[in-house]
Amino acid sequence: MGSYEDFYRRSLDQPEAFWAEQARLIDWEHPFEQVLDASRPPFARWFVGGRTNLCHNAVDRHLATRAHQPALVFESSETDERRQYTYAQLHAEVNRMAAMLRALGVARGDRVIVYMPMVPEAVFTLLACARLGAIHSVVFGGFAAHSLAVRIDDARPALLVTADAGMRAGKVVPYKPLVDEALTLARHPPAQVLVFDRGLVSGSPFIPGRDVDFATLGREHEGAQVPVTWLESSEPSYILYTSGTTGRPKGVQRDTGGYAVALAASMRHIYTGQPGEAMFTASDIGWVVGHSYIVYGPLLNGMTTVLYEGLPIRPDAGVWWRLVEQLRVSVMFTSPTAIRVLKKQDAAFLKRHDTSHLRYLFLAGEPLDAPTHAWISDALPSTQVLDNYWQTETGWPILGPCPGVQARPRKLGSPGTAMYGYRVKLLDGLSGAEVTAPNQKGVLVIEPPLPPGCLSTVWGDDARFVSTYFTSFEQPVYNTFDWATRDEDGDYFILGRTDDVINVAGHRLGTREIEEAISGHPGVAEVAVVGVKDELKGQVVMAFVVPKDPARLQREEDRAVLEREVMDTVGRTLGAVARPAGVLLVAHLPKTRSGKLLRRGIQAVAEGRETGDLTTIEDPGALEAIQAALKARGPGV
Ligand code: AMP
Repeated sequence: MGSYEDFYRRSLDQPEAFWAEQARLIDWEHPFEQVLDASRPPFARWFVGGRTNLCHNAVDRHLATRAHQPALVFESSETDERRQYTYAQLHAEVNRMAAMLRALGVARGDRVIVYMPMVPEAVFTLLACARLGAIHSVVFGGFAAHSLAVRIDDARPALLVTADAGMRAGKVVPYKPLVDEALTLARHPPAQVLVFDRGLVSGSPFIPGRDVDFATLGREHEGAQVPVTWLESSEPSYILYTSGTTGRPKGVQRDTGGYAVALAASMRHIYTGQPGEAMFTASDIGWVVGHSYIVYGPLLNGMTTVLYEGLPIRPDAGVWWRLVEQLRVSVMFTSPTAIRVLKKQDAAFLKRHDTSHLRYLFLAGEPLDAPTHAWISDALPSTQVLDNYWQTETGWPILGPCPGVQARPRKLGSPGTAMYGYRVKLLDGLSGAEVTAPNQKGVLVIEPPLPPGCLSTVWGDDARFVSTYFTSFEQPVYNTFDWATRDEDGDYFILGRTDDVINVAGHRLGTREIEEAISGHPGVAEVAVVGVKDELKGQVVMAFVVPKDPARLQREEDRAVLEREVMDTVGRTLGAVARPAGVLLVAHLPKTRSGKLLRRGIQAVAEGRETGDLTTIEDPGALEAIQAALKARGPGV
């Protein structure tokens, strides 16, 4: 094993040779002619001219050696179900699903919106889309009708695949009724909706001519074989929407060949799962971690992937660790929030299970605080707990450890060093000059070309891709919108976002989206949404609302009604994931003299911090009034 330093340097100094070597980790139907085309910066095309297919690489190519090995184990602690599929069975299911999609007219390049709970049929759908060369776009089940409609209108899908419902904490979470509502809101609704009926809710009417029953169609295509559609490496595999500072979510567009190579390489060098072993990523298929490390990564690597529906503490806090024991999981991945949830329970629940074969627990999505890191490391004595940092846009880690190349000492609070392929820099937030001295704060940026696997553009909007990510500084660098420092050893520490994005339990939410939803309430004149520090979830959403009728501020009952209505409005339009943890009615919002909302100032006050320099504030009294209102309300959001 060489040193990571050499490995990293080679990836930057000889990117073509480096990535050509990594590209051998997957099958190509036709070899690529050029490793990298960076002739139109900041766009990068990887493995130009090569033809491949994600479904072939994740499923078909393993049939020769691992047909009878479990590929997918589904466990729901909500419905008490366990289903297991070998690679041969997964292949049959994915072929059948591809035949179903094809029968509904889905073809290469068509978009398919997937609004599904954590069931194997969701995984079949993604893989079947990949097989056909169709572009999937998963919308997280925590998003409600309006959010779904916005994404539908941007992606213009040929088909939407859904289920009657999911379950969370013993409660049924309806999906189909939200789809029905979203399709009335959307300007470009798909002509067809494929509905997987789990029998959890009754009474959601089937709309003849639009809705298709999954089971009925499935029976018609039992045993079907659908040939793989080979795609040129840069053809899109999926779109995944993510929030930024504007009200409109961005469709992160992923390519095919670059993504397959990046994931296969990350499984070997970063996550170090061995083919034949089990990987358990406790996330949701609606997030990037689910795409990369529940579905594609482990399957590309010939592993058994675990799909889990439920909470980490139901029926008790041993549920994940029982799975780890039973399935002999060697690599696990989840978020710091999930560990903080477990931390509130007795560690004995973990220690009761044999977790000795669990080599690594990877955590990502939000800052990993030292006490949480220490607690879980202690509860899992044979397991290394490793932080890693990345974004929906990149699809795999920007910063992290690389134990498959060389184990390095871990530092609490640091996700690690720059991953191979990423030319990471820190730039001064104002001047844009490079920050080279150790332990100095700067904006974390990546010099193009972005390595394989990262977003190739924003769906349907090349100009937005360039203007959002590459125009913050004079030099055309990719902006992560995170502050960071780097120490003498090259290890980075993430300090938080430079923009107004809120991170709730590792889920990225845009302030503007939530503000727009709240503004839709007829009683609201103005609103500011900020993220406020929370012990469990990292941050929670808090809304400061100026009511249209100032009299509503006077009476406690009036205030309470409007506050509740504001929360419900967000829940109904955007979904439970964005619902504010607190709403506070105020008379004014602090603004700059040019009329910009001072969200930073509000956030500082809400977190009980110093507001810093606020010389541009128009009306300092507004912040003081917020401070007084928060005090009057008492602790907690
Ligand atoms: P998302 O695209 O939703 O995964 O959110 C990405 C954002 O989450 C990053 O820009 C960071 O702000 C934050 N993030 C992700 N991983 C980490 C980590 N390991 N430590 C600190 N922040 C993280």
